[in-house]
Amino acid sequence: MPSGEERPFRFALEVCRNPAGAVSRWKSVSGRKAAGCIPIYVPEEILHAAGMLPVTIWGNEFSPASSGGVPPFVCSVAGGIVSAIRSGKWEEIDAWVFPSTCDTIQNAFEVLFPPNDDRPRFPFVFPASADAPGAPEYMLDRVEAFREWAGTVSGREVSEGALERSVRVYNENRKVFALLEERMAETPGSFTGTELWAYARAGMVLPREGHTEILKKALSRSREVPGPTRAKVFLTGMLATGPVMEALDAAGAAIVGNDLALGNRHYSGSADESGDMSLSLVRRHLRRDPCSTLHESGRTRIERLIERFAWSGADRLLMLRVRQCEPESGDVPDMADECRGRGIPFLCLDIDLHAEERASARVRIEAFVEMGE
Ligand code: SF4
Repeated sequence: MPSGEERPFRFALEVCRNPAGAVSRWKSVSGRKAAGCIPIYVPEEILHAAGMLPVTIWGNEFSPASSGGVPPFVCSVAGGIVSAIRSGKWEEIDAWVFPSTCDTIQNAFEVLFPPNDDRPRFPFVFPASADAPGAPEYMLDRVEAFREWAGTVSGREVSEGALERSVRVYNENRKVFALLEERMAETPGSFTGTELWAYARAGMVLPREGHTEILKKALSRSREVPGPTRAKVFLTGMLATGPVMEALDAAGAAIVGNDLALGNRHYSGSADESGDMSLSLVRRHLRRDPCSTLHESGRTRIERLIERFAWSGADRLLMLRVRQCEPESGDVPDMADECRGRGIPFLCLDIDLHAEERASARVRIEAFVEMGE
């Protein structure tokens, strides 16, 4: 039987292994609907306030039986999501939200979404740039339309009071996730890479209140560090996979910071808890940290990344690039130059969610951890 300290981790791991099972359980207990959210940046608070379960899907929840007719040039995140939907694997999902994350997501769903799938769909088109004229007004219009859509799909109107409560629930969750990240920076090795991965991923499926409780339990364990760490790594990119995190753990590396889309970028940034709630969600979106999938003319992603890297106390930067991800690929040369100029060891590791090259990832990570020892 797992000890009290291990229990939250085991539970999170189980959820990660069978996310569809977790959604199905939630639906049968609650009798309510689940909304599939394509990454990233869906304002989930609205779905929560409508009584729905937001489920963020990353494309590797199922092992693909076939490519499902998805062309090979599509990245494995979009490809995995579309082929799972096309092969009927997400029956638990009652409605879909497609944000305008990148060209791949937009094109893949326009062209490849099964035409006979009549579940409601909301295409959430973000303003092209946070500081473009009219961006707040446009985003407010989209948030209001999304609010109305969620109310219609769920049969429960999204009242201002319900949305205010949901904003608080999400802010609390983000606060506790930030504490986990802080602990990892302050005490390298206090949580393994695999634990961070499991806790971040479990939050994609679990109701936010339950996820917050799991994180709190995880944080309540003793601060004792299991052993010395060989490297302090900052992770950037879209997402980590279980095998990459296992390789980092096996190499004796501690994750001390991240700006992963399935990590810090998903969980950071609170919404204002007073005033008009739709506006609060608009402001939260428009003041996000720079990201390869959002455009703005202010501070660049690299500047912010280096700032966060320094804060974390990391001694090397690992970029996990999803193969064929154009937005992230665009950042890599500048990131590599910046690291070279600052003497920061840097590695860009390509990952394919459906063709995980465990052995080569392990060898490259081991060599990366040895650098500068
Ligand atoms: S991994 Fe990159 S290309 Fe693929 S869906 Fe995400 S942002 Fe788009």
